[in-house]
Amino acid sequence: MKKKKQKGQLIVLSGPSGVGKSTVIAELLGERRDMYFSVSFTTRTPRVGEADGVNYNFVSRETFEGMIAREELLEYAEYMHNYYGTSLKVIQDKLAAGIDVLLDIEVQGAATVRAKCPEAVLIFIIPPSFEELSRRLHGRATDPEDVISGRLQRAREEYRNIPSYDYLVVNDKVSQAAAEIIAILTAEDCRVRNR
Ligand code: 5GP
Repeated sequence: MKKKKQKGQLIVLSGPSGVGKSTVIAELLGERRDMYFSVSFTTRTPRVGEADGVNYNFVSRETFEGMIAREELLEYAEYMHNYYGTSLKVIQDKLAAGIDVLLDIEVQGAATVRAKCPEAVLIFIIPPSFEELSRRLHGRATDPEDVISGRLQRAREEYRNIPSYDYLVVNDKVSQAAAEIIAILTAEDCRVRNR
């Protein structure tokens, strides 16, 4: 008996700012070229090096609120005074075509996905320790101390949501974290009994 995949798998990755999620995702997508990374919509301004349609679809608040009103988003959240959201149609089309879809979203959005798509696989990525997260946040940017301490505070709040995730991955070494996620997805593909 050969397993035939009818529908793609919806995978949610969350984790605190500074955990190195984008690097893990880049590694993962390099290994799993069949996987589709969902490009979110956001009202925040692009950072240096970010391109519209690649990192995010950058839109105005008015455009985003129109999408909310027309129910075009699978989920959305307001994070640090900006909207972030996932296109419903894009996700539906990819999953229906049997393509696995990866979402990089924060904890409120992940809770919405869990409620709407109970079969989604939710993975939370953490750093080896809070000290390490603090070191990474201090090392990576020119952010002022209050912004960094705000992110650390938010990370502590986000950790409270870990029990609603299916898996926890520690990002000590990027290649190891990506390998663990691939192992999780392989196990989910082989799953017989539903959660
Ligand atoms: P950043 O501004 O640093 O790119 O992202 C801030 C946070 O927004 C990150 O935790 C990221 O995972 C989350 N995020 C990005 N896209 C979405 C989305 O479409 N929906 C939700 N709920 N969160 C998102």
